[in-house]
Amino acid sequence: MRLTPTLDPSHPIRIAGAGPSGLSAAIALARGGRSVVVHEAKGDVGTRFVGDLQIIEASSEKEPVPDFLDRIGIERNFYFRPVDWATFYDHRSRPRMIRARTPFGYFIRRGAEEGTLDRGLLAQARAAGAEVRFNSRLDPADADIVATGPAAPDGLAKEVTFRSDDSERIDVFFNHKLAPGGYSYLFILDGVGTFGCAIVADFKKIDEYFDHSLAAARRLHDFTATGTMRYGYSYMNFHLKTTALAGSARYAGEAAGFQDYLFGLGIRYALTSGNLAAQSVLEGSDYDHLWQPTLGKKQETSLVNRFLYEAGGNFGLSMFTRSAARAADFQAYLGSWHQSTWWKVALAPLVRRFWHHEGRCLHKPGDHWCRARQTEMKVPPLGPVER
Ligand SMILES: Cc1cc2nc3c(=O)[nH]c(=O)nc-3n(C[C@H](O)[C@H](O)[C@H](O)COP(=O)(O)OP(=O)(O)OC[C@H]3O[C@@H](n4cnc5c(N)ncnc54)[C@H](O)[C@@H]3O)c2cc1C
Repeated sequence: MRLTPTLDPSHPIRIAGAGPSGLSAAIALARGGRSVVVHEAKGDVGTRFVGDLQIIEASSEKEPVPDFLDRIGIERNFYFRPVDWATFYDHRSRPRMIRARTPFGYFIRRGAEEGTLDRGLLAQARAAGAEVRFNSRLDPADADIVATGPAAPDGLAKEVTFRSDDSERIDVFFNHKLAPGGYSYLFILDGVGTFGCAIVADFKKIDEYFDHSLAAARRLHDFTATGTMRYGYSYMNFHLKTTALAGSARYAGEAAGFQDYLFGLGIRYALTSGNLAAQSVLEGSDYDHLWQPTLGKKQETSLVNRFLYEAGGNFGLSMFTRSAARAADFQAYLGSWHQSTWWKVALAPLVRRFWHHEGRCLHKPGDHWCRARQTEMKVPPLGPVER
């Protein structure tokens, strides 16, 4: 067993990365009375996003999102809107209305602009007393908490954000031909629109998948988009680890591979792991012992869910959309997918063996398992593009 190194209380805690994981750690540490310096490589927070709508999901854990945020000391000083309805489409374009009794998620926005989660967390970290230094890249070897985001492309997404006065839409398209291993989505809420296509294979063709998915969505139900079209490419990192420590550093968020294998919804993992990293510093407790029983188990279940998602093909996705629409409460239905049942526990080692690879991989830290099929593939230049 590895023990988490104790940090000298008289020294400021150095955090690499001002994403949700790094800022969540900074907020907890600064409120706990520690001196904190967050180093952010870019000139602002959230620069890999384009003002897009994202969701803090509410189904993977019993604790409702507002209670979760309250518990980890995060105020809602950003766009935050509950969602309890949506329309899912299968590969035959059949619309299925989804309804939930309680929100299955909360929309937030991401990017370097007012109202986003990124700017909200930045303001809270500063108000708590943390120093945030922009254009300051910190070598992970010099950091106490490494929260640098994804390092290898396991999943890739292209998005566009725009303005729209259309009626509100939350459409999700499940079709492995249009988005291999992933899905595409159109959100129009409060005058902001986001269309995205997320894939886990064939990364070189992301533009084609995006264009075909967008054309298919428009054929089904066209929408108006005004103002600047802001496009962005970004990737996601998933791996299962036995430790999230490397030397004296605690790894949090996607830098540690904490991500939901099923739908790539990593914000809750990022906020939780950042908070747990801070807790381990404040208490001098073992970081691995804090995240393993909660995030470790949950992530392994999500790996099995991903296997089922891909193995079932479009027929499986069609069954999923139908069952989701039939459920009186989609929140409870999705929650059941996240449950760690005996058969998922039994299936997990088989999935790991089936997706085992012998190749080199770019993930950190230490001992881990990853699928790593994509890590050496070239991806388009990342970040926002305006047109
Ligand atoms: C297109 C897209 C849509 C998504 N939608 C959702 C969604 O709807 N719901 C959801 O839950 N999740 C979603 N995710 C995933 C979610 O955005 C991530 O899981 C989350 O942002 C991870 O947070 P993080 O703090 O680990 O990393 P990041 O948010 O990537 O932050 C890392 C920060 O570290 C900085 N950095 C990197 N290296 C260094 C260094 N050496 N020194 C200093 N700074 C450094 C980076 O510039 C960056 O600002 C989406 C991801 C993508 C790509």
